[in-house]
Amino acid sequence: MSDVSGFELRALMARVPSVEKVMASTEFVALLAEYGRTQVLGAVREALDNWRAGAQSGDVSVSALDVAQLKSAVEAALRQRNESRLRSVFNLTGTVLHTNLGRALLPDEAVQAVMKALTQPANLEFDLGTGKRGDRDDLIDDLICELTGAEAATVVNNNAAAVLLTLSALASKKEVIVSRGELVEIGGAFRIPDIMSRAGAKLREVGTTNRTHLKDYDEAIGPQTALLMKVHASNYAISGFTKEVALDEIAPLAHARGLAVAVDLGSGTLVDLSQWGLPRETTVRETIEAGADLVTFSGDKLLGGPQAGLIVGRRDLIAKIKKHPLKRALRVGKLTLAALEPVLQLYRAPERLTERLTTLRLLTRPADDIRLAAERVQPALQHAFGERYAVTAEPMFSQIGSGALPVDVLPSYGLVVRMADGKRAGRQLLALEKMLREMARPVIGRIADDALRLDLRCLEAADEAQLIEQLKGARA
Ligand SMILES: *Cc1c(COP(=O)(O)O)cnc(C)c1O
Repeated sequence: MSDVSGFELRALMARVPSVEKVMASTEFVALLAEYGRTQVLGAVREALDNWRAGAQSGDVSVSALDVAQLKSAVEAALRQRNESRLRSVFNLTGTVLHTNLGRALLPDEAVQAVMKALTQPANLEFDLGTGKRGDRDDLIDDLICELTGAEAATVVNNNAAAVLLTLSALASKKEVIVSRGELVEIGGAFRIPDIMSRAGAKLREVGTTNRTHLKDYDEAIGPQTALLMKVHASNYAISGFTKEVALDEIAPLAHARGLAVAVDLGSGTLVDLSQWGLPRETTVRETIEAGADLVTFSGDKLLGGPQAGLIVGRRDLIAKIKKHPLKRALRVGKLTLAALEPVLQLYRAPERLTERLTTLRLLTRPADDIRLAAERVQPALQHAFGERYAVTAEPMFSQIGSGALPVDVLPSYGLVVRMADGKRAGRQLLALEKMLREMARPVIGRIADDALRLDLRCLEAADEAQLIEQLKGARA
């Protein structure tokens, strides 16, 4: 840095090409074609302003401004500005269904279907048999009923919307009976009491946090009761002196009193996961069989599909739900339906699911397979972080995520980074974590027990090669 005198500055300024001249130069032809005049002009002005500010503050390195230099500054600025904000990352958090990282990854069948729906007109609401207007739910409700045993089905934007719509359509200005042990909050401000009041329904709490009995439900039923509701605790578990009334006890009580039971199942799995050694979850079909009149669940949790909320159950209740004005506001778009249908079709061949359905493939990936991946990635990560750090492949535990089975963990493998000299790493781990986050394709891990941990469960072959390549070019 050195001070530039007023005289020198004026001389430098005089050599700066005019905006018009820059825009008309051959160097800018391609940029104008790609980004358009308005954007390029804005970027040129900004680059010239920056140059002047630099010159005025005495930074001599800016003295040699020419059109070629200006072009590369402008090009870099435009490229950065036009980069997508929604970026692919590597999910090495160990949480397979990570809500903040977009939950379920979709199989190729769904990707192809979405691509078609994006680029070609489709019979979204057009009955090809009659040539008349159709209903978008008709595309998919038979399939959902086949897989769940329900009489009828409808699909909305997410499970929160499914619950809101169900309560609005069936319990507005009336009471809904829920156990105090099930008044849960799911991440991102979904709270049963709040949804209830949004829907205009009155929450009638019964029992206590840890224990609710059938007689609690029985005594709460009155002329104002519209529904009995059960909510999957999802992200918490209570243990010890507890009592929950099972659905197959509540349903007969409700039905004897002429009432319906709705179940918010949260994740809503369609197959028994225990057949693959995963923790057991009640399926949607079992919930219907146990007497639920309505079941709501997410499309992008254990189901492994796109973001959606599915409502299945009694025909008359689904009909009422579909007629409610909120259904129009909460309906799904064609991309969701396009993605959901092929995912559901995969469930028709359950014996192939662990290979075809991405979510299930990741959840059932053998720890040994993940260990081999960890051993392959280890040298690249060690190289990127350098000798000050020790990178080792170690066993760890993954989580399913998205509120599914929070207390269960899956044996996995990953890379663990500590100080090579055995000292406490502390803040230095934050710097490594930041370095990973700032890569071309950000790498998201987690820090725990004074070590940076990268669980490789969700790193499948193609991604593994890309990660290794990316790490080769990095250096802490
Ligand atoms: C996840 C969850 C929801 C919210 O589902 P979204 O699809 O995220 O809207 C609602 N209820 C329960 C019990 C859940 O687990």
